[in-house]
Amino acid sequence: MSDTTAQPTGRCYCGCGKQIGYGRYFAAGHDKTAEAAFLAIHHGGTVAQMLHAHGYGPDDTKSVTKAAVEKGLWEECPFDCGYRGARESIVNHVNRYHKD
Ligand SMILES: [Zn+2]
Ligand SMILES: [Zn+2]
Repeated sequence: MSDTTAQPTGRCYCGCGKQIGYGRYFAAGHDKTAEAAFLAIHHGGTVAQMLHAHGYGPDDTKSVTKAAVEKGLWEECPFDCGYRGARESIVNHVNRYHKD
């Protein structure tokens, strides 16, 4: 981890000033509030605009989920159904959709 990584300070990162537990970044639910505010300010309130601004899009070559897999952060479904996700998500997905 670099020095520029956000560190928990005991106060909510959304900027509401709330005191929170040690090692936490947000009061309950405030991560969603902060995310929504950030999107509203920078990307017209939509995830699509955010992805577009970072060079991602609907094309396979611009797929954000594919990029996550290529960076080694996410994995592809081993059953080749096209699903991509974090390791825990893959486990849940396989249990739900490829049980038999
Ligand atoms: Zn907050
Ligand atoms: Zn699958």
